[in-house]
Amino acid sequence: MKHLYLQEEHEIFRKALRKFLEKEAYPFYEQWEEERIIPRAFWEKMGAQGYLCPDVDEKYGGSGVDWGFSVVINEELERVGSGLVGIGLHSDIVIPYITAFGTEEQKTRWLPKCVTGETITAIAMTEPGAGSDLANIQTTAILDGDHYVLNGQKTFITNGIHADLVIVACKTDPKATPKHKGVSLLVVERDTVGFSRGRKLNKVGLHSQDTAELIFEDAKVPKENLLGEEGKGFQYLMEKLQQERLLVAIAAQAAAEKMFEMTMSYVKSRQAFGVPISKFQNTQFKMAEMATEIEMGRAFLDQLIAEHMNKQEVVNKVSMAKWKLTETARKIATECMQLHGGYGYMEEYEIARRYRDIPVASIYAGTNEIMKTIIAKNLGF
Ligand SMILES: Cc1cc2nc3c(=O)[nH]c(=O)nc-3n(C[C@H](O)[C@H](O)[C@H](O)COP(=O)(O)OP(=O)(O)OC[C@H]3O[C@@H](n4cnc5c(N)ncnc54)[C@H](O)[C@@H]3O)c2cc1C
Repeated sequence: MKHLYLQEEHEIFRKALRKFLEKEAYPFYEQWEEERIIPRAFWEKMGAQGYLCPDVDEKYGGSGVDWGFSVVINEELERVGSGLVGIGLHSDIVIPYITAFGTEEQKTRWLPKCVTGETITAIAMTEPGAGSDLANIQTTAILDGDHYVLNGQKTFITNGIHADLVIVACKTDPKATPKHKGVSLLVVERDTVGFSRGRKLNKVGLHSQDTAELIFEDAKVPKENLLGEEGKGFQYLMEKLQQERLLVAIAAQAAAEKMFEMTMSYVKSRQAFGVPISKFQNTQFKMAEMATEIEMGRAFLDQLIAEHMNKQEVVNKVSMAKWKLTETARKIATECMQLHGGYGYMEEYEIARRYRDIPVASIYAGTNEIMKTIIAKNLGF
């Protein structure tokens, strides 16, 4: 695996992180899957080692390093299991809203504990009636003196159970036209009166990932918890969704590479008709096809990460990477399971878990169909 944007220091960091995960994550991962949650203690261990929010400025407790370190962390977490996706969501999806749009007071108040893992964050956009059509959210926040009164329901929220801070997309001007101009982002804290959690959701895959419903009933949110300016929430989301989609593409690529590796070793060891199944031409062709897709995906992705780190405009290419790499990973999961034969369908083989974890990557962070609408728009349709 070669990466354009990584230096020796990133690879040293990767080695240390992998060693940490071999001790603190790999041995417990199946238990977390069964318990359907990653314990808070693991978050705090990650924080103590500097593995949360590494790009946050040193004055708020971070390491102030480049985003290449975040890429390494997300790749290594994905190699353990896709259920750890909530950690990347915290460090590289939610925190960037605070660092980009937060006031000095908000950053000082919230960031240090996000870096240590004492505070876990979430972002709540999706509602039971609005996912892809984000401008149509119904959650409202109406200013009443020194606080907003927040009402509405969110669903499918990653880190929903653990979250101590939730960035909530809501309408501060429900009558605005066009609709998206009424959207704002409010930061809701754990103990807010009127804020409660609904069900912890029972998913097909990502069993250890905490996903929940959130409910706001006349929740009183201080005016000071508005992120950025009123009415600019949709614009902020469109800006920050690029890194979110890129992260999903990075995880899909890492998952594809891991599935390929485990299948390579399986086909060499499994015997049929007196030879390893790797001797069959079909096996070799399937592996050759997958190796090609992985190599091409890696080249496109690495170039894109480098462009993103150079702060270039990447909306179109991110949309391409998100749909294509998640689709490729899904195809690879199917092929790798097939090459495992009956064992691939057994829970004790990692490929079975990968097979049920990967399809959600085509759905969240904007569905693959929405990615294609963006690409089509850029084609002039
Ligand atoms: C495990 C998991 C974790 C998640 N985590 C979070 C989170 O942390 N925060 C959060 O806010 N949300 C989260 N989500 C929600 C996720 O982002 C939404 O499910 C997703 O955006 C799709 O919205 P929807 O489910 O309402 O589907 P819908 O929008 O109802 O879409 C249904 C189908 O219609 C298609 N469709 C919709 N509009 C169009 C169109 N214009 N053109 C073509 N096809 C279209 C879609 O592609 C899809 O195939 C999570 C979801 C899951 C499953």
